[in-house]
Amino acid sequence: MGIDGQYRNVVMARIGEGGQDGEPAKPAAHPAVSVPSPASPPTIARATSSIAIVGAGPAGLMAAERLATRGYSVDVYDQMASPARKLLLAGRGGLNLTHSEPIDAFLRRYTPLHPLLEKALRAFTPDDLRAHAEGLGQETFIGSSGRVFPRAMKASPLLRAWLMRLDRLGVRLHTRRRFVGFALGSGAPLIDTPSGERIEIQASAVLLACGGASWPRLGSDGAWAEALRVAGIEVAELLPANCGVRIAWSDAMRTRHAGAPLKRITLSIDGARFAGEAIVTQSGLEGGPVYAAIPCIRRALARSTHGASIAIDLRPDLDAGELEKRLARPRGKQSAATWLRKATGLSPAAIALLREEGGGALPGDPASLARLIKAVPLIVTATAGLDRAISTAGGLPFDALDANLMVRSRPGLFAAGEMLDWEAPTGGYLLQATYATGVMAAEGIANWLGALSDRALAEFLENPENAPAAQAT
Ligand SMILES: Cc1cc2nc3c(=O)[nH]c(=O)nc-3n(C[C@H](O)[C@H](O)[C@H](O)COP(=O)(O)OP(=O)(O)OC[C@H]3O[C@@H](n4cnc5c(N)ncnc54)[C@H](O)[C@@H]3O)c2cc1C
Repeated sequence: MGIDGQYRNVVMARIGEGGQDGEPAKPAAHPAVSVPSPASPPTIARATSSIAIVGAGPAGLMAAERLATRGYSVDVYDQMASPARKLLLAGRGGLNLTHSEPIDAFLRRYTPLHPLLEKALRAFTPDDLRAHAEGLGQETFIGSSGRVFPRAMKASPLLRAWLMRLDRLGVRLHTRRRFVGFALGSGAPLIDTPSGERIEIQASAVLLACGGASWPRLGSDGAWAEALRVAGIEVAELLPANCGVRIAWSDAMRTRHAGAPLKRITLSIDGARFAGEAIVTQSGLEGGPVYAAIPCIRRALARSTHGASIAIDLRPDLDAGELEKRLARPRGKQSAATWLRKATGLSPAAIALLREEGGGALPGDPASLARLIKAVPLIVTATAGLDRAISTAGGLPFDALDANLMVRSRPGLFAAGEMLDWEAPTGGYLLQATYATGVMAAEGIANWLGALSDRALAEFLENPENAPAAQAT
């Protein structure tokens, strides 16, 4: 073992990897071996790992891979029976891994784009993510919208290959292990096991990669936020992002048009415009432009008790003058719906949307109807809940973290992935930031342990007789 490795072990002994008061570190336990301690409450056992990662989603797995590749001993804990369930669900939609647009445009998708997030995204780029997937045998391609997908259009082969790689690297995965907070005295993370045992994890560094709070039945339930608050760590409220909105539809709209697409529309709110395809749902609207508008809609909802006003342009490609000209043509014996469809190309769901404004009636004159087509006013009463949101806004603020993604107030505790306070639309931006912050946290852990190691080496050189014995792992 080289001198670096030797002095890393000296440091581990010092910062409490299993040992007490300078005792040599115990070797990493496998799998989550509990060592009963007479000094602890009867339900608390101890387990030792060099680096403990909580959360086996893409952020945790990425960090585990980077750290294990550097030679660290890594234990990953997850409360579910199997890892990365949300990644597998994302795979059902084709697994949009990242986006191919130029990096400056790419970065503008993130709100807030904290300098640490920007640094992470510039250090681990969309090309790096594609290379990672291809290294796992998953060829990728760029779709017509610029989005990047694996050819397999699903996550399971990628995840299978990734888990095999991690296994080969010696990463230990402990499932059905739930992080519940920090031990009062030591500050070590506490993990509950299915047998009712509570384990105090003694690690050189701990990475939390617990995800957001959407789709809680897949494991990311956001309960970590309360555990962090109890420990005095500020967490911004977890809110639904990339989710649908609620609109009080008429019965006709709900019963006849739920599920229908509104193609090539533009949604406007507060001067911002979002283009794409929306879907009418039983309770409102879903789809790309709605998801992209959610930060604005949330702000508008917070300002007003009457809901958020949005407007839908059903023909953004035609101006009001052109529409008015088309609507001025004689209707003859055609029904209003047929005439409107032929004159404007609107779908039945789009025409039904026009009728929502007038309680079923359409404006009589072409100019008013053209104006309505260009801006159907709707009131959003609420965003849909976190249960079915694609992602989560809020979380651990970057300002609470240092350049290593380490929680400033808790040396040795790091965080990555969707649990950090950033937000982005769909399009591959979510997984990109998840992977990139996983990589950044892994590098951060290595930097931090390396700096400790250097300090220990300096102390040792100054005073060799006081150093604890180095222990091979
Ligand atoms: C339907 C859907 C489709 C999506 N499609 C895409 C897409 O195509 N492209 C894209 O970029 N993004 C997509 N996303 C978002 C993407 O999946 C997430 O942003 C990403 O999985 C976040 O990764 P993460 O590792 O931070 O968290 P997660 O993947 O949520 O993983 C967190 C892990 O932590 C574990 N955990 C949580 N709390 C605890 C605890 N207390 N103790 C122990 N373990 C815990 C969970 O069980 C989970 O395994 C989609 C999301 C959804 C819901």
